[in-house]
Parts: sequence; structure tokens; C-alpha cells
Amino acid sequence: MISCDTDAGMFARQMTLPGWTPVHQDRLALSTVLVAGVGGIGGVVAQYLAMAGVKRLILVHSGKLELADLNRQTLMGFSAIGRSRVREAANRLQEQVPEVDIRTLDQPVDAQLTDIAGTADLLIDARLSFPERFALNRIACLQSKRLIVGAMNAMEGFVLNVDPKVTACLRCVFPEEDPDWEPLGFPVLGAVSGLIGAMVALEALRTLSGYGQPPVGGTMRFFDGTDSGFREYVVRRVSGCPDCGS
Ligand SMILES: [Zn+2]
Repeated sequence: MISCDTDAGMFARQMTLPGWTPVHQDRLALSTVLVAGVGGIGGVVAQYLAMAGVKRLILVHSGKLELADLNRQTLMGFSAIGRSRVREAANRLQEQVPEVDIRTLDQPVDAQLTDIAGTADLLIDARLSFPERFALNRIACLQSKRLIVGAMNAMEGFVLNVDPKVTACLRCVFPEEDPDWEPLGFPVLGAVSGLIGAMVALEALRTLSGYGQPPVGGTMRFFDGTDSGFREYVVRRVSGCPDCGS
């Protein structure tokens, strides 16, 4: 086990949370999380996981940084325009938390990630295209691996916690092959993606550490930024779902 004595400096404030013990901190230190997407949502997730003490991150995101990404992507800087987003994210995280062990994959999410996803304790879906989201959902279902989905569009966003083969998966909620979604054209306000990212990170930290109430699978939490309102829906498994059905 990794001793909390050596880490107390950085984590001293969270270790004063009521009921937070060295066991919670050690669980984070021993966890590996795959974060698919390091943009407006996933970048925030990766940051809060690393800053809370998750020691191993696998970051997946293809493509290079563009100027228009900078209204929301908190791990990116102006000087990185034209460079690999996922490598820039890793560099920035490494500056913030030198001890974190980061593997970067500059590629889309597809079935090729199955083996490496198998090494993670938890999967985070913060991609922007449904084909990539569905690919990760299939991997999570095949491996019975917990998956937390974060998504946003304009002033709205949602978080879906998937406990595969127990609760509804992403495909149960969006059964159509190509939902009506414009991956590169939808409006984004950075504060909304950041809030969704923080919600995903919090669910992930509770899942990994066991602190607080265990996150409930099969729920969708919607946030509406026009009035800062939250709504919660229970989503049900679809019998015969091609991803999570038997
Ligand atoms: Zn399903």
C-alpha cells in the first residue's frame, strides 16, 4: 500500500473531510482510470482525479488543439495550438501532479482499446461523437467495467453512471445508431462543460474511494445552465440491448 504519510502534504485538506481515512486515499492511489476525451469535460475529470490522488491515468483523445477549443479546455494553453491535445493534457497534468503516471493514446476510441481498458478500474466517457461513445460503452459492457458518461450541448449537460449488466447502458438510453448530434458544431459554454466534468469526477472519486454514498448506476442527472437547475431520471435496461443484453 502507498503510505498516506508521504502524500499528506498535497492531500492534507481532503484528508480532513469527515470520515475520510487513509484507506480512502490508498484506494485512489492504487486506481487506474481510463479517461476518453481530454476536452471541456474530460480535461476537468482528469485534473480532479490526479489532484485527488489517482495515480494512474490512461488518456485517449485524437487530434490537435485548435484556437476555438480554448473557451473550455482547461488543460490547454495558447502555445499548444497545433500540437497533440492528449500530450498537452499529459504535460499540464504532470506539472500539477508530478507523481501521476500517465499513458497517452492519440487515437479515436474504438475496439482496439479493449485490452488497455481491461487494465483500468473505471472508464470515463467524455468523447464528443456517438460512435466513440458507443465503442466505449460496448467495451464496458463486454468487460463488466463501471462507466461514467459525461456529455453536454449548449447550456445543458448530463451524467450517466453505468453499472454494466445491472443498470441501463448508454445504448439502452440512445438506441439509435447515429443520434441527432452534430459533434463538431454544437454550442459550448466552458462553465457548463466544466461543471459536468466536476460532477463526473466526483462520482468517479466516490466510486473508487468508497467515500460517501456509493454512486447509483442507472441514473441520469441533467443540468440546465439557463436556470442552474438539476433533474434526475432513472433509466431502465432495454431487454435485447445489443450492448448490455445477454
Ligand atoms: Zn444496454
